[in-house]
Amino acid sequence: MAYDSSNIFARILRGELPAKKVYEDDAVLAFNDIAPKAPVHVLVIPKRPFVSMDDFARDAGPEEVGRFFKTVGEIARKLGLADKGYRLILNVGGHGGQEVPHIHVHILGGRPIGPMVVTR
Ligand code: AMP
Repeated sequence: MAYDSSNIFARILRGELPAKKVYEDDAVLAFNDIAPKAPVHVLVIPKRPFVSMDDFARDAGPEEVGRFFKTVGEIARKLGLADKGYRLILNVGGHGGQEVPHIHVHILGGRPIGPMVVTR
């Protein structure tokens, strides 16, 4: 699947849409989810254009992938979530429930997040 540069997170990266930023460096941006599912709900994205974990894992180098996930951990720590714990969610593609086609990790915390997956 080709990267669609009109997706919401690409527009946030270009400054065309507002976002409540909680962290930014040259490679990574983190901002509050617009519809939070927990007291803390932050989305972390690499700035380079990857549709999903599938092409990120395939096309980004190990250094970029490693740095991204180290940054996710640092952000969670900075948000004060490390002691009590938190949930990371990374939806991939249609069956994974991914709605925005720019890879993003959800950080959810601030209360017990509950069962891993709701089954129905
Ligand atoms: P996913 O289903 O994993 O693709 O998650 C997409 C997430 O993006 C959802 O939790 C939405 O609430 C969130 N979202 C959509 N639009 C925006 C926006 N403009 N700013 C921040 N979060 C957004």
